[in-house]
Amino acid sequence: MNTVTRFAPSPNGMLHLGHAFSAVVAHDLAKQRDGRFLLRVEDIDGARSRADLADAFRDDLAWLGLEWEEVPAQSTRLASYAEAAGRLRAEGLLYPCVCTRAGIKAAARATGPEGPLYPGTCKGREIDPSQPHVWRLDIAEALRRTGPLVWTDEIAGEQRARPELLGDVVLVRKDDPASYHLAATLDDAADGVTLVTRGMDLFAASHIHRLLQAVLGLPVPVWHHHRLLLDADGRKLAKRRGSQSLADLRAAGMDGAELARDLRSGRLPIGISLAKG
Ligand code: GLU
Repeated sequence: MNTVTRFAPSPNGMLHLGHAFSAVVAHDLAKQRDGRFLLRVEDIDGARSRADLADAFRDDLAWLGLEWEEVPAQSTRLASYAEAAGRLRAEGLLYPCVCTRAGIKAAARATGPEGPLYPGTCKGREIDPSQPHVWRLDIAEALRRTGPLVWTDEIAGEQRARPELLGDVVLVRKDDPASYHLAATLDDAADGVTLVTRGMDLFAASHIHRLLQAVLGLPVPVWHHHRLLLDADGRKLAKRRGSQSLADLRAAGMDGAELARDLRSGRLPIGISLAKG
């Protein structure tokens, strides 16, 4: 089976060096194994998505000297998300939730890698369907049906799936037919991705995705979570914290292919370091 990797940026900000590193890693893993490297634009974050950024992403990848195949953007796949959500709902694996962010923060009994863990307030509650609501995955019930699950990260090795790390995540948003978790899991299967390559910051998400694969009957890929690039303060790069965009670097005359070579060989720009594993 040929390796298929992907780079799946969300068009809510320009790409920065962290994205370039991620794209180069995913590209090279596919090329070293005679495989395919895909670009998928994850543009279902309604209000924050900007269509024009997808063009900028292509310019960035070309500037880095990468070759890719582009698969359909998430906004063209809404029907498949709605179908899968409908199936999970019919199987009693989703429940509606009307909690606010502030309410969850106040009621949470524990904090997970992405903030307060949902304490299950709406589970088993009658919700007035005319009230705006999201749909959450009932992790305990899903796990009860699947039994213990495992998944493999190429670097970290075999993992016992622990979806409880993120808790009963939202799968269907108020205004969008899917959250990142549902959409990305369905798309990776539809796109034939065999090696889900992305940063360590999404490691916990993979526990949820493995559970979703089991309840949706999807193939199980291998994962490759790479180390993250950090700024001079030791924080993950982020546009909102002033990390320079690739477009800025390009405009300043930097050679993209050379940058890609440097990223491969670990020669990082001044002030940038690689997080510990
Ligand atoms: N769209 C996600 C992001 O830009 C990445 C998703 C993934 O690689 O699974 O953070």
